[in-house]
Amino acid sequence: MNSEVQYRYLFGPVPSRRLGLSLGVDLNPAKVCTENCVFCQVGRTTALTLERNEWVPTADVLAEFDRWAAAGHQADVVTLSGSGEPTMHARFGDVLRHVKAAGRFKTAILSNGTLMFLPEVRRDAAEADVVKVTLSAWDEESFRKIHRPAEGATFARLLEGERALRAEFRGQLWVEVMLLPGYNDAPEQVRAIAELAKSLRPDAVHLNTTTRPALAGVEVPRLPEAWLRTVAPWFAPAAEIPVFAGRAKTPEATTDAEWLDLLARHPIALDALATACGADVPALERRLAPLVAAGQLAVEEHHGVRMVRVAGA
Ligand code: SF4
Repeated sequence: MNSEVQYRYLFGPVPSRRLGLSLGVDLNPAKVCTENCVFCQVGRTTALTLERNEWVPTADVLAEFDRWAAAGHQADVVTLSGSGEPTMHARFGDVLRHVKAAGRFKTAILSNGTLMFLPEVRRDAAEADVVKVTLSAWDEESFRKIHRPAEGATFARLLEGERALRAEFRGQLWVEVMLLPGYNDAPEQVRAIAELAKSLRPDAVHLNTTTRPALAGVEVPRLPEAWLRTVAPWFAPAAEIPVFAGRAKTPEATTDAEWLDLLARHPIALDALATACGADVPALERRLAPLVAAGQLAVEEHHGVRMVRVAGA
């Protein structure tokens, strides 16, 4: 029998670079969420609400977990995540406590942060070893545009909740920043997000961009890896970026038109661009030299970092 069909609320375990082998627990029916993010990879939110409820039966989730653990399966961490915002489940704290009582697993929760303004949500979230919250906006308008939240969810509340969590939580607080072309990727926007992220005193910052087709009905292309590498040091601590499965083409294999297209939006740090291409800086510069000589690209220094951009952009 296929073991995958035996479980309704558990998924994986899947290897996670940051968490180790992670068993997922999904406490939301698809698709109940406090947000309807343009980049969502689960799909369009059909029940957009801040309502907290026992969206799936806690007893069934715990029984399933016990069955999984009794079968001798291995995982490093049990992670509440899945088809929506896990803190919407009124008893997610009981799930964390139950998993911890099993004694073998660390616990994590991946939250969008919208309900952290509620003291009872923060208290239960603090049961986890790791809490990851999202911060991809810098003001109310950008928050609404990117996350399309339920009525009652505001950027001010998000920030207030995430800051309060930091003040109370002794475990690892990670902040995820999802950067999207045309929404929040301009240098001044990223700097504004970085400034706010700093105020959360996170243990780690993870930069991300869309890696799979978004399923929420909005076409959002992914950002070039080199731009993520360029902005990563703007965060404190410096942001980590995902491992990209397919590397960018080598400098030699990239056409002139592709270079101009890649660099059209932002100036990108030469060393970040070289890393993304799997090349060294001199090799990259040799490849770009004809475009610089033709006046199509310019290399300039900003704050001690050498950046390349489309000339006149
Ligand atoms: S990305 Fe997360 S928070 Fe946003 S709609 Fe999807 S499940 Fe909800």
